[in-house]
Amino acid sequence: MLKIKNLHASIDDKEILRGINLEVKAGEVHAIMGPNGSGKSTLANVIAGREEYEMTEGEITMDSADITDLDPEERAHRGIFLSFQYPVEIPGVSVTNFMKTAINETRKAQGKDDMPAKDMLKMIRDKSEMLEIDRKFLSRSLNEGFSGGEKKRNEIFQMAMLEPKLAILDETDSGLDIDALRIVANGVNKLRTKDNATVVITHYQRLLDYIVPDYVHVLYNGRIVKSGGKELAHQLEERGYDWIKEEVEA
Ligand code: ADP
Ligand code: MG
Ligand code: MG
Repeated sequence: MLKIKNLHASIDDKEILRGINLEVKAGEVHAIMGPNGSGKSTLANVIAGREEYEMTEGEITMDSADITDLDPEERAHRGIFLSFQYPVEIPGVSVTNFMKTAINETRKAQGKDDMPAKDMLKMIRDKSEMLEIDRKFLSRSLNEGFSGGEKKRNEIFQMAMLEPKLAILDETDSGLDIDALRIVANGVNKLRTKDNATVVITHYQRLLDYIVPDYVHVLYNGRIVKSGGKELAHQLEERGYDWIKEEVEA
């Protein structure tokens, strides 16, 4: 699904990613971990195509098509979803109405007509039931006065509605409490199919007790310096990152 080869990327002429190789196949869950400042969020943003980040070398393909020159909207239309670390408040626009607009905008970009209102309502009902989202929540103004857990609930609801092929969840700076952690984990687990894939970026090993990844990668200094299975996350929990830094420096 997603193939990244020798990716280098910079912000303001400072090189942050220094040769990333990563392949994510349908049905897989990958966790990306690593110390603060190692480039995890940069990687997520570069995959999503955010303009502040300049890709200076390498290749990113999605379903075998080169997406390097596509803007974030076009990447989203190809099924790439990046969770919003700093969600905007939109007073007067409900969670549901925001979602309806997002879905119909996506359909328009794909050359499709609006989703019939009846189908839209059914989808909203089905997905909110699956994720145990309260009716009242759906009619609230987007992000206005949302708690951390409610923001996560909204994010997972957006992911459920948009049905991305590849979801990238960057949880690093969001200070997840235990409730929010469970909301994210349950959502990811329920939305998991053999046709989609998830990349979870986290420095909370605890999240990976709930979302069991197929692969764990450690990003350090702009490179993936170690990859393994879920046991790698447990090793990191016990031993921290110093042994990895030592391995790299040796
Ligand atoms: P992580 O998510 O692993 O904590 P980041 O990708 O956020 O790491 O940051 C990697 C490096 O890039 C850090 O040194 C950080 O200071 C720098 N950086 C990230 N975003 C910006 C930005 N918008 N402008 C300048 N430097 C940035
Ligand atoms: Mg950080
Ligand atoms: Mg980060």
